[in-house]
Amino acid sequence: AVMVARRASARARWRRAVALLREFEEGCATPPARLRQVVDAMVVEMHAGLASDGGSKLKMLLTYVDALPTGNEDGIYYSIDLGGTNFRMLRVEVVAGSVVTSRKVELPIPEELTNGTIEELFSFVAMALKDFVETEDGKDDHRALGFTFSFPVKQASVSSGSLIRWTKGFSIGNAVGKDVAQCLNEALARSGLNVQVTALVNDTVGTLALGHYHDEDTVAAVIIGAGTNACYIERTDAIIKCQGLLTNSGGMVVNMEWGNFWSSHLPRTPYDISLDDETQNRNDQGFEKMISGIYLGEIARLVLHRMALESDVFGDRADNLSIPFTLSTPLLAAIREDDSPDLSEVRRILQEHMKIPDIPLKTRRLVVKVCDIVTRRAARLAAAGIVGILKKLGRDGSSMSSSGRTRGQPRRTVVAIEGGLYQGYPVFREYLDKALVEILGEEVAQTVVLRVTEDGSGVGAALLAAVHSSNRQQGSI
Ligand code: BGC
Ligand code: MG
Repeated sequence: AVMVARRASARARWRRAVALLREFEEGCATPPARLRQVVDAMVVEMHAGLASDGGSKLKMLLTYVDALPTGNEDGIYYSIDLGGTNFRMLRVEVVAGSVVTSRKVELPIPEELTNGTIEELFSFVAMALKDFVETEDGKDDHRALGFTFSFPVKQASVSSGSLIRWTKGFSIGNAVGKDVAQCLNEALARSGLNVQVTALVNDTVGTLALGHYHDEDTVAAVIIGAGTNACYIERTDAIIKCQGLLTNSGGMVVNMEWGNFWSSHLPRTPYDISLDDETQNRNDQGFEKMISGIYLGEIARLVLHRMALESDVFGDRADNLSIPFTLSTPLLAAIREDDSPDLSEVRRILQEHMKIPDIPLKTRRLVVKVCDIVTRRAARLAAAGIVGILKKLGRDGSSMSSSGRTRGQPRRTVVAIEGGLYQGYPVFREYLDKALVEILGEEVAQTVVLRVTEDGSGVGAALLAAVHSSNRQQGSI
């Protein structure tokens, strides 16, 4: 009788776990109709953000970048890229329009520097850059510097701007509201390096610059890495909030800060609310928290943790599941990518990283499924965001005739894309590409090229430093 009861309750617990899975799957559903609602909401918010400051959670920040590199640049430029997982420094040499050498140093950012003072963080950056420049070019060399700073910044010019707020777990209190280019210039001066910031850019803007350099049909750039964001080229007269603004080219790059996009059409689950509660920027970056690398593993962990509590499918030693951020997104990706028949990699990850003892195959499948749901929703929402931009630009096919063409050839549109999730996680990329086809239809989707740039955010910033340096060369947009 005891055996029978035990088996019955084991079955009930398994059913509970499966019910939680189903509930989560439904909560994350992104059928095409819903994605189209997200697209439309994105377009509405883009208009609102362009109309007035504070008009939308979508900040639609001016970048003052009205000229992109054309291939006529020449010389040696430096850039630093701060705000992703690693801190990068680049030396870029451009000869007759092609990037001939580009040397790179990459350093992890010491964790304590992400929540200390801005002087400490920038001293670290300045000292590293000083070493790098002096090794490459010797002392006393004056070079233009592109500073890629991947956080929301209210630009005052192409080379200055103040930090609006931190994202991605950074929280250096005394930096908000300060001109980050000036802070870095001061740190550079303290270090004795004769270099100043020539261009202060968001990583999306650097990526767009390099993308456009390689292919003039590039009109937008998207980052899906630790965080997520996009920028695109907007007509100056559509940027209502700064009427009277004139640019040489009639256009300007707008940094959308789409990570902060919000709409009631987004498929939000109780796990998303728990995740938000754990972060330092509650109620902000809602779109980012469903899409980007810092968060995906954690969403999956929250689901698995609830399953562990309400059913004992992971045994009674699944303690690691209760610790926030123990399941990183690279682990989530490795779990989802395991295609071995017995899911041996999943077993290994659960044992080594999550301290979950060997669990049966069907339970490992449950874990894979959770990771799949999280990945799929993220990739499909990112696709909807991209289509939102295309729609705002009139390039989503909706203004085309029924034959799908605007007189003659359909227009080719290139979106530069960068970041670990798109580049390093094939399943994510497949889901995203597939959702683009679902929303746009086969024919229009064929006119849209997502082009991966390598170090675009850094190389592009160096090229922008070239375009905007004192011997200003004419760029185009
Ligand atoms: C930041 C953006 C950045 C993106 C990708 C977000 O958290 O707010 O400025 O472009 O991450 O790095
Ligand atoms: Mg980056």
